[in-house]
Amino acid sequence: MTQIGFIGLGMMGTPMAHLLHAAGHALVVQDARPEAAALFAEAHPGTRIASGAGAPDDYAACDVLITMLPNSDIVDAVVGPLASQLKRGAVVVEMSSADPNRTRALAERLAASGITLIDAPVSGGVKKAVAGTLAIMVGGDVPAFERVRPVLETLGKAITHVGPVGAGHALKALNNYVSAAALIATAEAIHVGEAFGIAPATIVDVIQASTGRNNTTENKAHQFMLNGAFNSGFSLALQAKDVGIAASLGRAMGLPMALAQDVYAMTAEASESLGAGADHTELYRFVGKA
Ligand code: NAD
Repeated sequence: MTQIGFIGLGMMGTPMAHLLHAAGHALVVQDARPEAAALFAEAHPGTRIASGAGAPDDYAACDVLITMLPNSDIVDAVVGPLASQLKRGAVVVEMSSADPNRTRALAERLAASGITLIDAPVSGGVKKAVAGTLAIMVGGDVPAFERVRPVLETLGKAITHVGPVGAGHALKALNNYVSAAALIATAEAIHVGEAFGIAPATIVDVIQASTGRNNTTENKAHQFMLNGAFNSGFSLALQAKDVGIAASLGRAMGLPMALAQDVYAMTAEASESLGAGADHTELYRFVGKA
């Protein structure tokens, strides 16, 4: 059993924290929505709720602190002040999808207090978070990774160390760019095919059986798009954030990534137009209107 701090009980964080509790770990949880933390603690006996105000003893006993938050602004604001109350030798496992350069900067600041941050973003969505079968891409110190590996194995199946700190976040953003590009391409193909008189379900099934097969044809088109459900659990705003990180990473590396700039422009515009609550699968509607 490990004492684990867990910050961010949203669509992903809640099922992840649930699995850690089920595996016997002692949890201290925190969320900006007090009702989310209260609900979790009620359903998971023994869980302590952190004050969230940086009280010195919130995480003092934790060997591991996991963060599953929306973006780097929030991660910096939440984790930065904890440097003085986490114990030396503690490992921060930053599992959000975030900006790799800002992750590196945060890791350096924490290292000055004897705390190691590794980034371990995930792929697979809410379904795999619930099942404990996420893909986890880890960046950072290998001994720290090995220490927390048993904790990560509760949450994911394919766990890969991909490079130094920040590398997990870089690869996660690049993955989500590729995934978003395929979603948009699939949505365009469905709308154009439909306008030509082919049934949308037939378009998806034939692409799925052909060389255009991708995660949208396999796991999203029927499940969330054609049926109008649009409830995958991954917001359009978070997807746009990820593609934006990938596009600016390309610029920083001197590689223009022309397609990524277009995919970012489209996801950001769709997110703006459809509003904060939009699911990323609603890009299908947006592409259809354009
Ligand atoms: P979410 O918006 O459902 O959850 C985020 C949680 O963070 C919320 O409960 C929110 O109240 C909390 N929060 C926000 N600001 C806070 C603060 N200052 N202090 C404490 N808590 C705060 O998002 P999500 O879908 O669970 O995604 C979390 C992260 O995982 C994101 O970085 C996202 O890009 C990534 N991700 C999401 C999915 C998915 O399918 N939803 C898949 C892979 C990765």
